[in-house]
Amino acid sequence: MREEAKGGGEAPSALVIGAGITGVAAAERLRREGWRATLVDPVEPGDPEQASFGNGGILARCAVVPVSTPGLALRAPRMLLDPGSPLFLRWRDLPRLMPWLVPFLRAGREAEARRIAAALAMLTEDSVRQHQELAAGTPAAPFIRTGEYAYLYASRAAFEKDAWGFALRRELGFAWREADGAALRAADPALNPRYDFAAIFEDHGWIASPGGYVAALARHFLRQGGAHVKARARAIARDGTVTLEDGRTLRADRVILAAGVRSRELARGLGLEINMIAERGYHLELRGARPAPPIPYMIADGKFVATPMEGGLRCAGVVELADADAPPSAAPVRLLRRGAARLYPQLRWDEARSWMGRRPSTADSLPALGPVPGAPRVICAFGGQHVGLTIGPRLGRMAADLAAGRAPNADLRALAPERFGPAS
Ligand SMILES: Cc1cc2nc3c(=O)[nH]c(=O)nc-3n(C[C@H](O)[C@H](O)[C@H](O)COP(=O)(O)OP(=O)(O)OC[C@H]3O[C@@H](n4cnc5c(N)ncnc54)[C@H](O)[C@@H]3O)c2cc1C
Repeated sequence: MREEAKGGGEAPSALVIGAGITGVAAAERLRREGWRATLVDPVEPGDPEQASFGNGGILARCAVVPVSTPGLALRAPRMLLDPGSPLFLRWRDLPRLMPWLVPFLRAGREAEARRIAAALAMLTEDSVRQHQELAAGTPAAPFIRTGEYAYLYASRAAFEKDAWGFALRRELGFAWREADGAALRAADPALNPRYDFAAIFEDHGWIASPGGYVAALARHFLRQGGAHVKARARAIARDGTVTLEDGRTLRADRVILAAGVRSRELARGLGLEINMIAERGYHLELRGARPAPPIPYMIADGKFVATPMEGGLRCAGVVELADADAPPSAAPVRLLRRGAARLYPQLRWDEARSWMGRRPSTADSLPALGPVPGAPRVICAFGGQHVGLTIGPRLGRMAADLAAGRAPNADLRALAPERFGPAS
């Protein structure tokens, strides 16, 4: 069976594979420009299957320092042996992870990490505005909160251990103010006195329900004439024909590949190797939590964020290197639970929910954005790793620009999808 993407008339058409934040942003942008845009995804936008559902919600403009930094290769073995560390590895998956892990650790060398941070800053710097523009006039707008974002430390000495990353942020134009314990507790009296120092960034933002936000954006897109084919894409041909799992085919003028971590398999079918894994992370949501932080915190020693969400407190983070489809582990959630109790010793809540998600993380921590060589109708837009919510609207917008034949107002060479080489 052969189906044309929905719509009629002369307007150009696009299929957007994946309805997470990136895909919905791209599809909505195209729709606003008069395209017949169709999302293709087996799940509803905002579904817990999506990384876009369970993330920490932070519009992390300043989160430009990649996870792989100078010295990580030396620190990582010790972290893996420490049960209190936020880095987990499913040892049996290590052989399969090595082709990603080795270049990932290599990307932590000083010059490379600086290059990556500069490319990330280009994507994150105006992210709050990008979200506001995308959500304006839609039911998603009320989910956006703006305000400060604080990195919490036990002491100034602990903060100074992160000096390299903060100096890099400063070089890239991000400024912060410093707060001592007294100032922190004046704003948040229940905060554990063990946190005695913070670096606070202004002009940040967060999404008070990331799943609700993506769902609301998609609702608007559909009400305004967009379409959703609820099916999984099995393959994309070089001419842009999309074959669905049930054998149907769809065709459009352009295809945007925004299937998060699963984009790798679809890109491989187009002859493109993307060195990307599911860098797994977890959240623990404490519904009805009291107290809850007035602004989002990054708990620097636990490497998790504590975000005031619509229904309570969400603690999200942790890196677990494991097969994408391995069952969720219990230890990361236990670690988040201990982290929440340490943040607020008096913490109470009504209900606790945990979640595991898959960050689409390339070996150089940069997304893939651009047309597929040899298949110019197909445009890659995935790989947002730890900041995929933050940069989703920007990636979506630039993918829409590329689909329309416009050069985005940015240097995209660092994001070229072909940088990892052809599929073998
Ligand atoms: C614990 C955790 C905390 C995080 N915290 C933050 C944060 O605070 N701030 C931030 O900016 N980022 C954060 N992130 C990262 C962020 O969530 C992701 O980078 C981002 O959501 C990726 O969005 P996406 O649209 O690319 O992918 P997804 O949201 O995963 O969506 C991909 C979609 O593609 C669909 N799909 C897959 N295969 C196919 C196929 N074959 N055919 C059709 N559809 C397909 C899937 O069903 C899915 O709906 C966090 C991630 C985790 C795990």
